[in-house]
Formats: sequence, structure tokens, C-alpha cells
Amino acid sequence: MARLVFADAHGHTNPSVGMGAGRIAEKFAEAGGWFMALVALSPRHYGLKEHGLEGYRKVYDLHVSECRAARESGLQVSCLAGMHPADVDFLVNKARIKPREVLELGRRVVDLAADYCRRGLLDGIGEVGRQHYATKPSHLVVAQRIMEYALLKAEDMDCIVHLHLENDGAFTPSDIAELLDKLNVSKSRVLLHHARPGVLEHGVALGLPAATPGLEPVLVAAFRRTEPLFMVESDHIDDPGRPGTVVYPWEMVANQLRLLERGVVGEDALYRVNVDNIVKYYGVEPP
Ligand SMILES: [Zn+2]
Ligand SMILES: [Zn+2]
Repeated sequence: MARLVFADAHGHTNPSVGMGAGRIAEKFAEAGGWFMALVALSPRHYGLKEHGLEGYRKVYDLHVSECRAARESGLQVSCLAGMHPADVDFLVNKARIKPREVLELGRRVVDLAADYCRRGLLDGIGEVGRQHYATKPSHLVVAQRIMEYALLKAEDMDCIVHLHLENDGAFTPSDIAELLDKLNVSKSRVLLHHARPGVLEHGVALGLPAATPGLEPVLVAAFRRTEPLFMVESDHIDDPGRPGTVVYPWEMVANQLRLLERGVVGEDALYRVNVDNIVKYYGVEPP
């Protein structure tokens, strides 16, 4: 078998406060990385004071150039931008925008992402979805409606969607599978991002693409509970105020190599997780 290579199925870069994509991609490539899916953060994370459509447009342009920087470091990159469900709470609670208007904004932001996909600047919409914490019922409804709009757009544009969801056992993936069925959106378009063991195996059983955090104990549980039909993600937010959250992409590589040493996984399983499943979901050429 070829040298082991590693993929990050969902991560972030922040050139305003953190290392930025160029440096992250370099360090990841040095550790054996070949592919990264980079997902835009929210306007406030880059220090932007504009929270409306123009703020998102600035983010999208900045993110597209981050994806380009990562590609220049030799990685294959899938580039996504959307509207995080936590933005709904921020926009209502802090920016004082009414839920109805946040929903309208969300739809326009998704339209913008779809337009960037059409122009070949983005490969998908994300992250969209539902809050993973308790929030006002109306905020959850707004987030859900934005997600549904994004799923329909993605089907039209033939692009992918990263879903940020609550982690509630078998419920979360089965609800998404039903929703996709209802909306006539192909399962192969979505990624259940941050699917921890307990949710992951149910997603896999339903044939939903899913990525689990690359933390050692999480990976041990993931490989024990299900076939290697999932992907691994860093969800690294590149924020020096929260160093290593969720996990550095290169640490995620070290964690998988430790699993190999410990005999928890074989090279074949690592190859499927880091290459086969990535090639299939993202439609990229193998390394
Ligand atoms: Zn997320
Ligand atoms: Zn994320």
C-alpha cells in the first residue's frame, strides 16, 4: 500500500486572528495531509461589524482566497460557506434582528452561497443546520428553515451541504434521512458533521455521509462501533483564544497513527476513511 495519507473532512481557518489557511495547510501537508474541506466561519469571527448580507459576502470572498491559499500549499481543497445555526441566535439576541428577518437574510445568504457555487468559487454550502444547545423555539425553527432552503438549493446547484446538528443518538440521522426523502434531496449530498459515536453509527447505517471528530477516544469508539464508512474531521476553528479546538489537523493525524500502533485499526481502515470515503463524497481525484 502507498504511504498513509490523511484528510480533514471539515475544518476552518481564520486569517484575521489565527494562523490562516496557508500555514495550516503547510503543517497539515507536512504531517501527511492531502485533502481538506474548509468551511467559512461567521462574520463576527473575522472581526467584521457587518452582520447583514454584505458581511457574509465579505466572508465568502475572504474564504475563497483562504481556500486558494490552502491549494497553493499543495492540498486538494473543497470550499464551503453558509450560515451557522448559532448565527440565528447572535442575530436575534445581539444584533437585534427579528426572527422573521433573520430567516429572510438566511435565505439570501444561501442564495449567495449557491451563486458562488454556480461560479465555481465554492464547492458547497455549509455549515447550516440546527443549534446543538438549548435555544428559543423560534430560533430553532428559523435555523431549520434555513437548512431546508439550503438543501433544496444544493440539489438545484448539484453541490454538497455540511450539516451542523444536535447529537441525539439515532434520532438526529433518522430525522435528516426523512427530511431528505421529503425534500427529494439525495443523501449523498449531505455531511453529518461532528457526528460522534452514538450518532455516527446510526448515520452510517442509514447511508448518510458523516464525519467524526479526530480525537483519540472518539476515534477508538468510532472504529469499534461501525465500519470505516465515515470520515474524520478536525473542526479546528483556528482561534488562538481557544487553542486546539476541536483538534489541530496534524494532531488528528497523530491520533490516527497512534490507533494504528495500538492495533485498534489497520492501514486498510485508515485508507478507506482518509481516501476512499473522501473521494466518493467530495468527488475529488485520489492522491
Ligand atoms: Zn459545526
Ligand atoms: Zn465547523
